Amino acid sequence: MPARLCRVERKAAERSVVLEALERHLPSWLARHAPDSRRLHVLRRILTCRTASLGHHLWACEECGRKLPMYNPCRDRHCPQCSGKRTLDWLEERRAVLLPTPHFQDAV
Ligand SMILES: [Zn+2]
Ligand SMILES: [Zn+2]
Repeated sequence: MPARLCRVERKAAERSVVLEALERHLPSWLARHAPDSRRLHVLRRILTCRTASLGHHLWACEECGRKLPMYNPCRDRHCPQCSGKRTLDWLEERRAVLLPTPHFQDAV
């Protein structure tokens, strides 16, 4: 039986599920559609959502103290991970558990 995922691990997994679906379906979608440059830009931005390219904050689990990097959201209003209030909730939730350490911005 797999070990119970703790809070930070569930959050990390949640991100990758959406991203994996996008990555899996985007190539076939692009083969059938011809998005203009604005839409392509949005798509590219969404694909960077919560990846290392947007930097991350270090999160500590309040249950077990494990630390994991939580990648920053793209905040694009078209992004399925970032739309509307959910973004604000997400940010608030993260702000509440931020470690008192400097925030990292990954250089790409
Ligand atoms: Zn934990
Ligand atoms: Zn996003």
